[in-house]
Amino acid sequence: MRVLVGGGTGFVGRALTHLLQSHGHEVTHVSRQGGKNRISWEELSRVGLPQCDAVVNLAGENVLNPFRRWGDAFCKEVISSRVETTRTLAKAIADADQPPNAWVVVTGVGYYRPSPTAEYTEDSPGGNFDFFSRLVSSWEAAAVIPDGPTRGVLVRSGVVLGRGGGAISQMLWPFWLGLGGPIGSGHQPFPWIHIQDLAGIICHALENECLQGVFNGVSPSSPATSNSTFTQEFAAALGRPALLPMPAWAVRAVFGVERAVMLLEGQKVVPKRTLESGYHFIFPDLSAALKDIVA
Ligand code: NDP
Repeated sequence: MRVLVGGGTGFVGRALTHLLQSHGHEVTHVSRQGGKNRISWEELSRVGLPQCDAVVNLAGENVLNPFRRWGDAFCKEVISSRVETTRTLAKAIADADQPPNAWVVVTGVGYYRPSPTAEYTEDSPGGNFDFFSRLVSSWEAAAVIPDGPTRGVLVRSGVVLGRGGGAISQMLWPFWLGLGGPIGSGHQPFPWIHIQDLAGIICHALENECLQGVFNGVSPSSPATSNSTFTQEFAAALGRPALLPMPAWAVRAVFGVERAVMLLEGQKVVPKRTLESGYHFIFPDLSAALKDIVA
């Protein structure tokens, strides 16, 4: 299969590319930077979709970049890097003479309203109560392709845990130095997935002709994981103490009130359709996932 991946140079994209290539698929990235096996977004808009069997979008400015102030300019970048890239790929698919069979977009569990108790499956309502839920709604709306042969898949991902990027790379040094601890109360749910499973679900969606619609990209044990459970397990995997809680006011001061919600609140998300689709998780268990990552 020839697979075109928007944002394929990033943290998830590198893992997905590796997995797809190991299954014998050919991968081309759509990127802002030139390079081997890459096309630019401008080229995609001008020339149209290159010959391919499937398209994935993983592009998105890092929302939790602590070096970027949470203001209008950054918000616009966060939105356009997801919604506009998705719209550009959807348009290219709709306009293609030979449209691909599959179109997968990875969005986020921010679609569901944070709650310490409610459990959400792919059929649960959401998408219209705060900045992140509305972002996911616009992102998923941009992915819609009018009737055609291309099946659409949305993977709503939790926090992606893996080596060399994402949340772990931001937490590794503080925890390694013994400066880690729960965030805020620590009671908030922590929806998570191992990077190999997120790449695995995308690959599963590409390779199984019958799959379409929404799939939650979280581990099956994710609803039982709180931020403090994660903290204890991560510290244990590193063999370090995790005694220093990060107070809610400090999180709000560093990230801004709107963005701090992502760290101070969380959702219990169940991968119901993902499991029903026959996907077998490699890392359903948090401590095994973390041991693999820090090994
Ligand atoms: P990365 O931060 O690694 O970024 C992915 C790619 O997006 C980059 O390699 C870059 O490609 C492209 N990109 C970054 N900023 C911009 C921008 N301003 N405009 C256009 N393209 C941009 O993301 P991840 O791999 O961690 O995540 C992949 C997707 O999954 C993202 O959409 C993210 O929102 C979503 N997601 C990730 C989670 C996580 O925990 N990592 C959790 C939930 C959802 P290039 O430089 O080649 O153009």
